[in-house]
Amino acid sequence: MNQITHWINGALDTSKPERSGDIYNPATGKVTKTVAFGNAATVDSAVTAATNAFSEWRHSSLTKRSQVLFAFRELVLQNKEKIAALITDEHGKVLSDAAGEVTRGLEVVEFACGIPHLLKGGYSEEVSTGVDVYSIRQALGPIAIISPFNFPAMVPMWFFPVAIACGNTVIVKPSEKDPSAAMFMAQLWKDAGLPDGVFNVVHGDKEVVDALLVHKGIKSISFVGSTPIARYVYETGTKSGKRVQALGGAKNHMVVLPDADLELAADAAINAGFGSAGERCMAISAIVAVEPIASALVARIKSRMANIKTGDGTQGSDMGPLVSAVHRDKVASYIEAGAKAGATLVVDGRDLKVAGDGFFLGPTLLDNVTPEMSVYTDEIFGPVLSILRVNTYDEALALVNSHEYGNGTAIFTNDGGAARRFQNEVEVGMVGINVPIPVPMAYYSFGGWKNSLFGDSHAHGTEGVHFFTRGKVITSRWLDPSHGGINLGFPQND
Ligand code: NAD
Repeated sequence: MNQITHWINGALDTSKPERSGDIYNPATGKVTKTVAFGNAATVDSAVTAATNAFSEWRHSSLTKRSQVLFAFRELVLQNKEKIAALITDEHGKVLSDAAGEVTRGLEVVEFACGIPHLLKGGYSEEVSTGVDVYSIRQALGPIAIISPFNFPAMVPMWFFPVAIACGNTVIVKPSEKDPSAAMFMAQLWKDAGLPDGVFNVVHGDKEVVDALLVHKGIKSISFVGSTPIARYVYETGTKSGKRVQALGGAKNHMVVLPDADLELAADAAINAGFGSAGERCMAISAIVAVEPIASALVARIKSRMANIKTGDGTQGSDMGPLVSAVHRDKVASYIEAGAKAGATLVVDGRDLKVAGDGFFLGPTLLDNVTPEMSVYTDEIFGPVLSILRVNTYDEALALVNSHEYGNGTAIFTNDGGAARRFQNEVEVGMVGINVPIPVPMAYYSFGGWKNSLFGDSHAHGTEGVHFFTRGKVITSRWLDPSHGGINLGFPQND
């Protein structure tokens, strides 16, 4: 069976792992590969490789760095279908969706190709007589990226193109459920001419993550995953003196006002609720219908759900399986809990039958969900849409703002004034207006508010460049030989 091992200093680690984990094909329910689980020693050798590579890479010219990034971009583009196939094989999402996440990741590579422009500093001449001040941004050193299962290519790509372009060296710890995309890209970096040791991949679970969080050689942590782990990573990483950005879970609301185009809103609800089987941090999971349109909206969503084909992601399906049997059962338990608590089960995904042992669950629609139900309070991360009925815009806004998560949200309306008020008043990091999944382009920054983000910096865009660099300000005077003398007072700047 194919065993995936660590990638350190431009080569596969051939040592025998003490522990390893199984990788499943979620569409068949079968174990197809195993992955080595690293420990503190694994992290130590990756950090040694990254530290050694840093002294050269940080001095490589901006031109050289962008040339390597351009070459990497071409290679990822040429291999997009292969990477997508690896993702579908381990994650389960349909092939077109897997290719889509590679495309979104590539946009960050393209953004990072412009690093000579992005790293320009400021310069002020003559701040005092004969004195100039300028600012530069410098690389941090070896940095770590710890990513979740749901975007095995895109999420690491939110960070590593920018980190590498800024002159850092990188250690990626992908999800142990789907580590192959990161490994494939490691080889592409090598083929693109990136020096060995600049990009490393270590695998494993909590043991390897903990080793990354406390290793003195690692300067920053970029984490994406569930909120309890994000909080833990933030607290542990910062305690050990690192810069940390830890993106957590989500519960994204879609507010539908009475004047909205209900056909557009129903299409959006289907795409954003059931795409990738709801395993997206920007998936819509709560629809807040402002009366009197709730019943009309539910009818439209229900009729569209009948057309969703759930099955193996390589076979032309619209929606694939969930990532694991445990996760499928957990999502199903929320459907049960919602129905028991009094929600109306309009479509029950548990009725779906797909031949074989794949981890399938059909799209589910619950109506009359109320704010105290677990199906609403918790992040479910599956193909379950909940409808909450409210009477006014203010009630809808209060619902969104009182939820613990603040990753993404959307409003559907034809009233520009209402939309403008919503963008101003809503306490969420990424807002869509008649756009259900408002993932920012690479030149803006991605990140949520409240329990969806621990730390100050969002991913990519200007905030990404700032996260992966430290600012330095230089004040300089080239002495005129006739000028001098002792002066213990503050400069007068005259
Ligand atoms: P997860 O938190 O279980 O795992 C994320 C990473 O942390 C993995 O690499 C995993 O190996 C590691 N990990 C797991 N348990 C750990 C522990 N106890 N100690 C240390 N490390 C540990 O998340 P997941 O199930 O892989 O991904 C789904 C979650 O990620 C969802 O909550 C989703 O909302 C979130 N997510 C958020 C965003 C965002 O941008 N905010 C994006 C994608 C996914």
